[in-house]
Amino acid sequence: MSASRTDGSAPNTPNPSSSKNAMPPGMVMGPDGKPCKICTAFRHWKPGAAAEGHDRSRSHGGHTSTSAMMAALASGTAGTTTMARPDEPPPNCPPDVEQLGRATWTFLHTTAAYYPERPTPTQRANMLSLIRALPLLYPCSHCADDLGEDMAAHPPDVSGRVGLSRWLCERHNVVNQKLGKEEFNCAKTDERWKDGPSDGSCD
Ligand SMILES: Cc1cc2nc3c(=O)[nH]c(=O)nc-3n(C[C@H](O)[C@H](O)[C@H](O)COP(=O)(O)OP(=O)(O)OC[C@H]3O[C@@H](n4cnc5c(N)ncnc54)[C@H](O)[C@@H]3O)c2cc1C
Repeated sequence: MSASRTDGSAPNTPNPSSSKNAMPPGMVMGPDGKPCKICTAFRHWKPGAAAEGHDRSRSHGGHTSTSAMMAALASGTAGTTTMARPDEPPPNCPPDVEQLGRATWTFLHTTAAYYPERPTPTQRANMLSLIRALPLLYPCSHCADDLGEDMAAHPPDVSGRVGLSRWLCERHNVVNQKLGKEEFNCAKTDERWKDGPSDGSCD
């Protein structure tokens, strides 16, 4: 199974801006040869959204664009979880590849953070089933394929909370690297996904 962008580039690399045909540049084609929405960022299948998304922060944990923040401050919604990002689908629309990714990583890292230090054989088997299902079931096909290849080279560590959190962090960093994003410091997974920062700002 493979996927490609309408501009001919690999789907999981930072996007070039040129387009050879009528499809929006960056639209990812699925294994069936049709445009694959769940494999594509909304800003690439909804061209009007791209211009507004230009000032979006790429740093981890800081996803709110300046214009979105200003609009939110003006409307009094800053700091709430309902504030829309300018380059993602409107609320109640199906997710794009980025929303699906954020939700999935949130689920996986949080589940790892609360996984037992010393899991029972049954807990280990269940965790292994959950992880092994991802390359088979994850709806973004090229994401699933790449994860499967990565997992073949780096089998899941379900021995305990610390090992699992680190393994997941490393898998996530592989994707970050592919997408040209910053590497996350895996010593900070507990702070990010369980304890919150020591300044108490999340308490
Ligand atoms: C299995 C999988 C494969 C994917 N493959 C692709 C792909 O091939 N192409 C594609 O375009 N998108 C892919 N995605 C989506 C992509 O990883 C991002 O989720 C998406 O681009 C949104 O990125 P983001 O910058 O908002 O933050 P995300 O990368 O979603 O991260 C969410 C938060 O997790 C924290 N974080 C970041 N890195 C780590 C880490 N290493 N360990 C712990 N916490 C961390 C940060 O606080 C960050 O804000 C994939 C997602 C998953 C779950």
